[in-house]
Amino acid sequence: MRFSGFRVFKEALSGHKGWAPLWRNPDPQPEYDYVIVGGGGHGLATAYYLATTFRKSRIALLERGWLGQGNIGRNTTIIRSNYLLPGNEPFYEFSMKLWEGMEQAFNFNAMVSQRGILNLIHTDGQRDAYRRRGNAMLLAGADAELLDVAQVREMAPFLNFDNARFPIKGGLMQRRAGTARHDGVAWGYARGADLAGVDLIQNCEVTGFRIEEGRVRGVETSRGSIGAQKVGVAVAGNSSRVMALAGMRLPIESHALQAFVSEGLKPTIPGVITFGAGHFYVSQSDKGGLVFGGDIEGYNSYAQRGNLPTVEDVAEGGMALMPMIGRARLLRSWGGLMDMSMDGSPIIDKTPIEGLMLNAGWCYGGFKATPASGYCFAHLLATDTPHPTARALRLDRFARGYVIDEKGVGATPNLH
Ligand SMILES: Cc1cc2nc3c(=O)[nH]c(=O)nc-3n(C[C@H](O)[C@H](O)[C@H](O)COP(=O)(O)OP(=O)(O)OC[C@H]3O[C@@H](n4cnc5c(N)ncnc54)[C@H](O)[C@@H]3O)c2cc1C
Repeated sequence: MRFSGFRVFKEALSGHKGWAPLWRNPDPQPEYDYVIVGGGGHGLATAYYLATTFRKSRIALLERGWLGQGNIGRNTTIIRSNYLLPGNEPFYEFSMKLWEGMEQAFNFNAMVSQRGILNLIHTDGQRDAYRRRGNAMLLAGADAELLDVAQVREMAPFLNFDNARFPIKGGLMQRRAGTARHDGVAWGYARGADLAGVDLIQNCEVTGFRIEEGRVRGVETSRGSIGAQKVGVAVAGNSSRVMALAGMRLPIESHALQAFVSEGLKPTIPGVITFGAGHFYVSQSDKGGLVFGGDIEGYNSYAQRGNLPTVEDVAEGGMALMPMIGRARLLRSWGGLMDMSMDGSPIIDKTPIEGLMLNAGWCYGGFKATPASGYCFAHLLATDTPHPTARALRLDRFARGYVIDEKGVGATPNLH
């Protein structure tokens, strides 16, 4: 079934009885060529590109719960490609370009909205750093503009420009950045993968790997043993736990990250705005809620929930940036599980076990990476070679010293 304006109109006239489920619900087969573990955004995008762009077949995606129940449905929906380092920026710009054509490609409305992101500048040194970042973005084919304080004031007059500690002195703007409906992205990739013949198998937890003579032969699951030529693991915050089943210890710690949404308000925030003097970011959903967040929890955890001190910290960041937020009522908050790597950058690579490949370490920036992560992981699974934009995202970079430390804070996962 193709989605179109005409189809919506036709279904409205016939009581919406003609819509079919977006994907099948198959039972697992005993053997596949490719098994993808994890039905989040990255696993689903991998399965989609493997079946469509790389024309592979006999693919299964195994999800322990339901599709999209993890971080893909819990994030604050920001997409952008405003990175600095050569190991990151071309990859995230590749992702941005895929976002721009994605909905047409999989024929599903994921509400991709290029409403822009504004990173605020509060000191002269920060302006220098953002100018450098903007130039790195331009060199990688992205868009970037340095705004002065008058331009920022015109765009967002409600900000606290004359805050005694954190006066606003300008901003780095990426107009092609914005937001996308996170669960719509999961559903779109799932529907596209299913149409291309992928078996999307829910309630199927991977509990072990079949490894013979250094080569992966399949997985053990809560629904029985499944053979596979190649296995790709994309389980985000559970990466360390799942890879431990294959005897591997990853350079990753898991931390919870919370998000918040206010009651619906009239249109206020033009795009995404980030505070430059603390960790606080905010946008406004199409329903009117202010969607915002801040830092991860400082301790390691596999629980999809956070604690009150972080709520207070995020609220303080919001109040320092835009005091009017104090008058909005908080509607909901929730948490998800971040796979924080030692340098804050991701991993898309083979592992020492032949045929077993890893997609992990997305920290709290993995939503924007979903299309490129899926594409590059599918490239690796299909061709055994890394995609040109993902060559630096190696697992052994920590041992070799070629880290991609975007923030420059060293091997302290909770600070990235
Ligand atoms: C509150 C919050 C805000 C965020 N905001 C942003 C943002 O604005 N922009 C941005 O770019 N990123 C953001 N992120 C980060 C982003 O959501 C993640 O980095 C990204 O979604 C991770 O990839 P994923 O979608 O594949 O993960 P997930 O959706 O978590 O998918 C992993 C899946 O693996 C499954 N799984 C785990 N173990 C097993 C097993 N043994 N067997 C089978 N399946 C298993 C899980 O059930 C899960 O469904 C945010 C995250 C959170 C929590």
